Amino acid sequence: MATYAEMQEVFEDIRSDFRYDHELNGCLNCGICTATCPSAHFYDYSPREIVQLLWTENVEQIYDAMQEKIWACAQCMTCAARCPFKNSPGGLVAIMREVAIKHGFQSAKDVLRPFGRVMLKLITTGNQLSPDMIQPDHFPDWGPNIQKVEGDLKTLRKAIPMKTLQTTDTAWEVAIKTSVEMYTIWEETGVLKQLETMDENLFDVIEDFIDEKREEYADWLEEQEDKEDA
Ligand code: SF4
Ligand code: SF4
Repeated sequence: MATYAEMQEVFEDIRSDFRYDHELNGCLNCGICTATCPSAHFYDYSPREIVQLLWTENVEQIYDAMQEKIWACAQCMTCAARCPFKNSPGGLVAIMREVAIKHGFQSAKDVLRPFGRVMLKLITTGNQLSPDMIQPDHFPDWGPNIQKVEGDLKTLRKAIPMKTLQTTDTAWEVAIKTSVEMYTIWEETGVLKQLETMDENLFDVIEDFIDEKREEYADWLEEQEDKEDA
């Protein structure tokens, strides 16, 4: 169990986020946000409650809401469009989630674990999804029609009229320069640090991959320079 000082530190991180004052402007307690929130219909979750907790600065209950409740939000922002006070409960939840990741909350690890495969794909290919990920075992919720994509993926890709570069392990090929620039952005903005906090094993795999790509890019640049000099 966290100490009161730790809970206060978590709240300070939420409150000091540069978006906080734009997303929270007071609360009438009118309940419009909760009435229109899709997640509130299905889960033990209420955007009004989140706003009230933050507005009253109840650090213990804020900490408690970060264990489960905040992960129910669908980030649809219906609440932000409806609130007469121009609050954004969905935006506040986004800040709370980022702080939960920063502090290595178990709730964040549990929620993000299933996305590890997508994260690996995104960082190694620049695409979130690829044809070779569409396997019946991975999408039981798609029902029996998923069987239609079983077969020769390469042939199916060639049947698509638009240019797809015919790849199956990525949706399209991303230029190495773009990939290397993205790695720098993820590094500078703390995304890779967050990943390390959430899943050290996945981070190690991705770090090795990034090192290899950077070396490959350095060799490519050298080749280009040699060509120009020739
Ligand atoms: S709609 Fe706005 S003012 Fe009304 S309860 Fe929700 S956050 Fe508060
Ligand atoms: S952003 Fe989250 S809190 Fe707001 S309406 Fe959508 S699901 Fe509800």
